[in-house]
Amino acid sequence: MDNKYQHIFFDLDRTLWHFDENSRKVLSDLFTTFNLSKFIFSKEDFIAKYEEVNDALWKLYRVDKLTKEDLRWRRFSETLLFFDLNDTDLASRMGDYYVYNSPRQTILFPNTIEVLEYLSKKYTLHIITNGFEEVQEIKLKESGIASYFNELILSERVGVKKPHPYIFKKAMNLAKAKKENSIMIGDDLYADIYGAQRVSMDHIYFNYYKQVHDKTIQHEISCLSELMTIL
Ligand SMILES: [Mg+2]
Repeated sequence: MDNKYQHIFFDLDRTLWHFDENSRKVLSDLFTTFNLSKFIFSKEDFIAKYEEVNDALWKLYRVDKLTKEDLRWRRFSETLLFFDLNDTDLASRMGDYYVYNSPRQTILFPNTIEVLEYLSKKYTLHIITNGFEEVQEIKLKESGIASYFNELILSERVGVKKPHPYIFKKAMNLAKAKKENSIMIGDDLYADIYGAQRVSMDHIYFNYYKQVHDKTIQHEISCLSELMTIL
């Protein structure tokens, strides 16, 4: 690979920070802390239902049809309702517990530190994330990767979410980067990959779960260590 790149823009959740495993750890602790076994037979059922509800609500949040505040408790309230428990107060307390503990989890994808160590010697690294402002910095610090990044571009501060072209333009602006010497790395075909394509930025799709798709993509990897041969 030629060395035309100077700036690498990473997504954070599900690209470096192992969102699903970190989340499951907190949900498992939450199940115990709130004595949910009194109402729900299996922890696994609870976690699976929560993930289904959360995914559906996140889709609404992403298109601005749901506020962050409502997302935080409704994902628990709707999960509890599925198990015939109608308790918005409990749901709200669970929401607070989750939001406090989740960003303090530290599971990263395999080889994250090694890859960031390698890349940071050759390129300037940045984060572009649609995640909540008040938790993303905690995740970066707690998992020990904050120091690798120069600019942290948050959709909540910019005012639009990926894949909106403006957040990518704003990111390049802050990083003093040009699209010709930039590349985006992310796990989301819509937010990260389509977003990069819309501003003609090169891109690498991190397909950890090896999901089948029919999109045309510049580079696709299933392990972060592959970045050391591409970049
Ligand atoms: Mg992501």
